[in-house]
Amino acid sequence: MTKETKRDQNDLRGRHKRLCEEIEEHNRRYYLEAAPAISDGEYDALMRELIEIETACPELVSPESPSQRVGGAPSEGFATARHQIPMLSIDNTYNEAELRNFDARVRRALAGKQPRYVVELKIDGVSVSLRYEEGRLVRAATRGDGQQGDDITANARTIRSLPLRLRNIASDKNAADNELFGNHEDAPPNPLEVRGEVFMKVSELERINRDREAQGLEPYRNPRNTTAGTLKLLDPKQVAKRRLDVFLYDMVEGVPAHVSTHYEILALLRSMGFPVNPHHARCDSIEDVLAVCGQWRQKRHALDYETDGMVIKVDALEQRRELGATSKAPRWVIAYKFPAETARTRLRDITVQVGKSGALTPVAELEPVKLAGTIVKRATLHNFEEVMRKDFRVGDLVEVQKAGEIIPNVIRVIPEARPDAAPPTMPPAKCPACGSEAHRDPEGVFYRCLNAACPAQVKERLEHFASRAAMNIEGLGPALIEQMVGRNLAKDPADLYALDAATLGGLERMAEKSARNIIEAIDKSRQQPLHRLLLGLGIRHVGARTAALLAAKFGTMDALMRATIEELTDVEDVGDVVAAGIRDFFDVAENRALVERLRSAGLDFKAENTLAAKEDAPLHGLTFVVTGALESCTRDEMHERIQRLGGRFATSVSKKTDYVIAGANAGSKRDKAESLGVKILTEKEFQTLVDSLTGNNHE
Ligand code: ZN
Repeated sequence: MTKETKRDQNDLRGRHKRLCEEIEEHNRRYYLEAAPAISDGEYDALMRELIEIETACPELVSPESPSQRVGGAPSEGFATARHQIPMLSIDNTYNEAELRNFDARVRRALAGKQPRYVVELKIDGVSVSLRYEEGRLVRAATRGDGQQGDDITANARTIRSLPLRLRNIASDKNAADNELFGNHEDAPPNPLEVRGEVFMKVSELERINRDREAQGLEPYRNPRNTTAGTLKLLDPKQVAKRRLDVFLYDMVEGVPAHVSTHYEILALLRSMGFPVNPHHARCDSIEDVLAVCGQWRQKRHALDYETDGMVIKVDALEQRRELGATSKAPRWVIAYKFPAETARTRLRDITVQVGKSGALTPVAELEPVKLAGTIVKRATLHNFEEVMRKDFRVGDLVEVQKAGEIIPNVIRVIPEARPDAAPPTMPPAKCPACGSEAHRDPEGVFYRCLNAACPAQVKERLEHFASRAAMNIEGLGPALIEQMVGRNLAKDPADLYALDAATLGGLERMAEKSARNIIEAIDKSRQQPLHRLLLGLGIRHVGARTAALLAAKFGTMDALMRATIEELTDVEDVGDVVAAGIRDFFDVAENRALVERLRSAGLDFKAENTLAAKEDAPLHGLTFVVTGALESCTRDEMHERIQRLGGRFATSVSKKTDYVIAGANAGSKRDKAESLGVKILTEKEFQTLVDSLTGNNHE
């Protein structure tokens, strides 16, 4: 190595270190103090520079690098993490009397002495235990059964508010806990184990759900389940995309000798850079505790995260030791659970919504009522079987509940408040939109309008066809579609391609220019690749992912229309039910006619990766499994590359696998490939294979 490059490397190393510190400082300001000092754009530029340096000098990548926050390599599964100090559960109380009993028990055990309590919010999330050695996060684990959980370190690193490297314990000039730590700086305790709750903000769940709905996916129902599901993802990059948060509330190993109360522990956690929920209070009596709980019962609805109660802890660590624990829960802590939020209101009407495949869904129209911080006017009733089983009638007084769910539920009727003449609710005999007879699903609980020309269904189908995830026709929204259907301008997607600006311009609130723009957008959608068209057709059970897999496998609309059930079930993710749904769709003459009219309208019936269908594509007929951490790209990108070159990818190794592409830390799939004698390639060897098959040095 020359002197010159050595100096360059030292410069880079120095720049890397400064960038890491700077980015972490901005993270801290943003997430802990809510006082960002730079714009998002400037932050992204710093992050990009960091990643560039790390790409050039991979030896600089450390587990604490802020680059790890965007997600490390995917894993094959979670290792088991044994808790050296078990994660016990907490006993629950549900009312004031039970809480007073707890206080009485504690006082008895402390020989009549009244303890001081600390009251904290009970965050509705997933409990985790975090271990730091020499100030660095070395392990994050879920609670599991209390004795052992999953090692989720890579996923925890993506939580931006969680420090990967701790600050020295410094006195904070603005804080009241100054005298606690003096004016000097101390290194954080080593080792250190802290516990807390990972959660998702309500606003973040709403953001994710807006994206999901735009893609035609079912929204997630509540933040807690979404948090649990996110932490279980094997690909940290996916975890990083959903912004999780964390609050720390306990230290189980490394408590300094001079710290004698829980209140001090919370201050200490904060001083090391941990996010600590600011809403905790010290109480000298159970009366004070009850008052604090009472305040938060309503106040909590103003928070951007969900809480399901309060946690009450004895403050003095010495008293905690005296109290000890039962086999399942400590005796010095109790949870006070808020009752599930319910409200009573009148059921004004039961309306019927018509879905794009004709499902008739009952919706409760309610007298507006305040519930868990929001005004509720409508609630889903799920299906008519449930309406009849629970005997909901128009005019009834009903109980509405919001229990960790964003969409309210009508749980029961108050029979004694029923108006005299309220007749029982019957399932709809007719579709409210077109008047054709409603049919009961043979397999299930749904009533359905079978009239494919039903205007409500037509409207839903056109909306779906034009949606962002499908054909992405900008400007063609629900209000416009409703007018078009009302005037009989469009009965199905093929009609859209026959529209002209003059016709659209005749509609209400439609300026000439916007009419032209919409016609342009419709015209442009002719080039959309096959998988978007397949999604847009609204074939039952075919979502975005299945549509993409079908397009990749069959390559053209014609090949897909000819496919047998056996060929369809050969596609990953396609089982018997989905295959039957696809076959049924193309077996209906009207649907085949629709496809032909779309073809005449000049739509692209080929997959994006047209090579996939061609027999002369370099990887045609070859199946690959990608495993381990790749260097040159992500696993998804590798899959795309394989498809673009005409190959197939699978997610598990079998005798049908031609090659396994193995990155670093490839686990069981590599072993399986070895035992089956499947050839294993490095990324470089894969490139060599591609080069040899394409007959040149470039793709
Ligand atoms: Zn209908």
